[in-house]
Amino acid sequence: MSKERATCKIKYIILSVVSLVLICAAVVVTILNTYKPMFEVTINNEFIGYFKSRQEFDEVYQTLVNEKLQLDETAKVFLDTNPVFKQAFVKASTLDNNNLYTSLRAQVRAEYTTYAVLVNNEKKMEFQTKDEADKYAKSMKDQVNNLNVAVNEQKTAELTNINNIESANAILKDIVSRHKPVEEPKPEPKPQPKPVVKKTTKPRQTSKSTPNQNYAPVPSASGGVWPTVSRRISCGFGGYSGHTGLDIDGHTGDANVAYKAGKVVFAGWSGAYGYLVKVDHGDGIQSWYAHNSKILVSVGQNVAQGQLLALQGSTGRSTGDHLHFEIRVNGRPVNPYPYIR
Ligand SMILES: [Zn+2]
Repeated sequence: MSKERATCKIKYIILSVVSLVLICAAVVVTILNTYKPMFEVTINNEFIGYFKSRQEFDEVYQTLVNEKLQLDETAKVFLDTNPVFKQAFVKASTLDNNNLYTSLRAQVRAEYTTYAVLVNNEKKMEFQTKDEADKYAKSMKDQVNNLNVAVNEQKTAELTNINNIESANAILKDIVSRHKPVEEPKPEPKPQPKPVVKKTTKPRQTSKSTPNQNYAPVPSASGGVWPTVSRRISCGFGGYSGHTGLDIDGHTGDANVAYKAGKVVFAGWSGAYGYLVKVDHGDGIQSWYAHNSKILVSVGQNVAQGQLLALQGSTGRSTGDHLHFEIRVNGRPVNPYPYIR
C-alpha cells in the first residue's frame, strides 16, 4: 500500500513540474508574440524609429541615398553623425514602419556641386553643369564690354536655387540691358536662331489659344528635337526635390513628339504620370512623355524622330497643361535638356 502511495506522489510531482514548465513556455511565447526584439535607432539624439535589424536600417538608408543621387549622381550623401543602435523590446501592436523613411530622410544630408555665374563678384545664376554656367558667362562677355564675369564651383545642400533656362535667359537679358553693349546699338537686333524669352513682349500663352497638333520640329545641335510645340520651361530638372524631368508649358491638344526615333515600350496610364508614353532608343536610353490627354501610339510601334506620340494634357499629378519630359539612362533620370536643346 505505502509503495503505491509513494509512486502516486512521484507521479503527482512530475505532473506538476511538467505543467509549470508548459505554463512558463506559454508565457514566454505570448511575451515574444506581443513584444518584438528591435533596434531603437537614434541620430543626433533624435528618435528615428525601431528597426528589425541593422540590415533593415541599411536598406532604408540606401533607398534615401538613391533618392538624392537621382537628382545628381555626383552628389555626396551622408549622415551628420553615426546612428546609435539600442536593443529594445517593443509592443508589436505599436510598431509602425510608415514613418521610418520620413524621419530618417530628415537626417540625410547631401552635398551637391553646382556652378555659379558671378558678375562683379555677385552671384547671379546657378547651374548643375559647368557647361551651362560657362555658356551664360560667355554670352555676357560677348554682349557687354569689360564685364567682370566668373564661374565658380560651389557646394550646396539643396538644388533649390538652380536656374532654369527661362529664368537664366531673363537674368542674362537684364544684365545685358544694364551695361554698355559691345557693338554700337543697332536699330533692330538680328533675330537669333534661339531667341531669348522676352518677358514683357511675349505674354504667357493662355489655354484659350488653339492647340497645335501639326508641330514639325527640326533637329538641333544635340541631334534631338524639341518634344513639344511650346519652348516655355516651367520647371527644370531638379527644380524641386525629386523632380525627375523637364516641365514644358503648353495646351491640351498640343503635339508631344518623339525627341528621337525609337520603339514605344509603354503607352498607358501610370499613376502620377497620368497617360504616359515611353520610347526606347537603345543604348539604355528612354524618353518619357507624361500627363498626356490622348495617346496616339501603341506598345511595340516604331516611331520616327518628331513623330506625334500623344496630345498634351494635364492627366495624373499635374496642376496645368504641360509636357513632363524625362530622359532615363539605364533607368535613372538625367537632365533631359542637353538631349533636346
Ligand atoms: Zn514635371
